[in-house]
Amino acid sequence: MHTFKRAALGLTLAALPLAGVAVATDAVSFGSVAAQSPINVGRVCLDGSQAGRYQAEVQGAISIWNSHVHSVQLAECSGGITITEVGSYPGGSQYQGDMRGHGQIYIDDSQVDEGYNHQRVVAHEIGHGLGLYDNYSGPCSELMSGGGPGTSCQNYNPDANESAQVDQIWAGSLTAAAPKQNVTLVFPTAHATK
Ligand SMILES: [Zn+2]
Repeated sequence: MHTFKRAALGLTLAALPLAGVAVATDAVSFGSVAAQSPINVGRVCLDGSQAGRYQAEVQGAISIWNSHVHSVQLAECSGGITITEVGSYPGGSQYQGDMRGHGQIYIDDSQVDEGYNHQRVVAHEIGHGLGLYDNYSGPCSELMSGGGPGTSCQNYNPDANESAQVDQIWAGSLTAAAPKQNVTLVFPTAHATK
């Protein structure tokens, strides 16, 4: 459908850990469970091979989310959520998928270039893949307020409430929080005025 793709396939995904945070490429091992590891930890694969200029932010988002949640862990692998850079995408950057670790994320260059924090946009869209909805009228301290607080918002971490919600969803204790059907959630560029 959309045809714009940067020639990013040849790029080697060098390890680009955020300062002090190791990027886990195989964070969860099934089978041999360490003594203190939770038994049922969800695993979500992120495929950034089409992420073009946002590849570092995909790596960053893995570190960000893994450091905030415990009942699910992200890793770089295929079969889960793909992140694709596009020059422009109808509606803007968005997540399409089941909100349970599968789907497609499109990052719209023309939207991001208005000045949005790249890491915030990528981590936000991945938040949808983990089960969170938008809260456009929320403060900058919330990751899922997206572009609502404007381009000055540089926060790319989920707050405690958002992290707890993801943990509850993946622990199975908040099963009504998200539908297991294909949904589309768009990153807004302006305050929702209601
Ligand atoms: Zn969103």
